[in-house]
Amino acid sequence: MRLSRYFLPVLKETPADAQIVSHRLMLRAGMIRQQAAGIYSWLPLGYKVLRRIEQIVHEEQQRAGHIPVLMPTLQSADLWRESGRYDGYGEEMLRMQDRHGRDMLFSPTAEEMFTDTFRAYVKSYKDLPLTIYQIQWKFRDEIRPRFGVMRGREFLMKDGYNFDLTKEAALHAYNRHLVSYLRTYERMGLQAIPMRAESGPIGGDDTHEFLVLAETGESGVFYDSEITELRFGERAIDYDSVEQCQAVLEEFTSRYARTDDTHEQSVFEAQVPEARRREARGIEVGQIFYFGTKYSEPLGATVSDGEGNQVPVHMGSHGIGVSRLLGALIEANHDENGIIWPEGVTPFHCGIVNLRQGDAATDAACEDLYKAITAKGLDPLYDDRDERAGAKFATMDLIGLPWRITVGPRGLKSGVVELTSRRSGESEELAPETVVDRLAEIYALG
Ligand code: ATP
Ligand code: MG
Repeated sequence: MRLSRYFLPVLKETPADAQIVSHRLMLRAGMIRQQAAGIYSWLPLGYKVLRRIEQIVHEEQQRAGHIPVLMPTLQSADLWRESGRYDGYGEEMLRMQDRHGRDMLFSPTAEEMFTDTFRAYVKSYKDLPLTIYQIQWKFRDEIRPRFGVMRGREFLMKDGYNFDLTKEAALHAYNRHLVSYLRTYERMGLQAIPMRAESGPIGGDDTHEFLVLAETGESGVFYDSEITELRFGERAIDYDSVEQCQAVLEEFTSRYARTDDTHEQSVFEAQVPEARRREARGIEVGQIFYFGTKYSEPLGATVSDGEGNQVPVHMGSHGIGVSRLLGALIEANHDENGIIWPEGVTPFHCGIVNLRQGDAATDAACEDLYKAITAKGLDPLYDDRDERAGAKFATMDLIGLPWRITVGPRGLKSGVVELTSRRSGESEELAPETVVDRLAEIYALG
């Protein structure tokens, strides 16, 4: 993409009403625009990152054997009356009527609709296990929408639902989600800690939240510093293996504690040596639940068990805050000049800065680089505006592309351009061909 033809409405001023750094940076970098409290338009740069996050979520879900679908955002209240949640859900549910006076709602979550879909088609234990999921907009009329996309009213969520014959099988699905979530966050360059949690309106027996460590997190947590060295992407985990999925869960047990839970703290302190104990704050970027037959019983989602009985299926639901992840990523990856995207989610793979727009040799070198990088299947952002170098650098730093290539007449005379890492600030002078190869190498690994 050539910046002169792109739509990147960066702001010079720091927006006064944005309280946390990710919100400020998303507004300044022209990623989102607020349309109403907790409701945002996704501008090109923000939309690109949102799509990259979605793509990673899809890939990791499908790797775990889960099947994508898409359900409507507007739902009839009848299903929610059947499950008994319509009256109880409270003020967070946005309710409305259609022209015929029928009660409708904007889905805040979708246990009912997935259970209804299941019961319509699946009748036998032979069709289990089954996990279906979607990435779809949700609406929760949060009392205090704040921090930009972190606590919106309309937000994008991945929600998945497993259907199993037995409790054991459903707990395997739970553990499988736990592993796949850890891999998902890791691919985005995030360290997430799964913590046992309270279940809230979804209900159920078992639930874990996934926390990303960042100063502006809403939950306090103690953790074992060695937790941050656990890596899942490199392991060949067999998602069908009950033991392998269970063992992960166990790696985390007793290695963290909520700061407001004294029982958890005493277990944590007994288990983790003092030198490895850390205190931090965490942002909830996902949650998984096992809730047994809570929805399958009232909605009549039963299957034949092969022994002549009709039994309600055991279920769980599993959510990832896709749009909240943008905020969490920025909270965990920024400096005083702007965002620092991890390679896994960056909107463009690199930026090209032309230091002397209009100089024939410099323009030609930039065009060649742009074409060569694109030909490798990468997506560069070429700053071809007629602007001062300082302004171009400031924009690149603000929008946070992990690699910047600086091209100027002086370097070109000795056959080099400069490759700069946004994270370390370190630069290298390299021949243009070498830069192209280096980027191809970085992203093939990343
Ligand atoms: P919270 O405790 O932060 O209100 P929740 O526990 O009610 O969230 P879940 O039902 O577990 O949310 O939803 C799954 C995921 O969706 C959450 O882990 C979070 O990442 C994301 N999410 C929930 N509410 C919002 C919101 N208002 N804005 C953006 N993302 C949200
Ligand atoms: Mg939650």
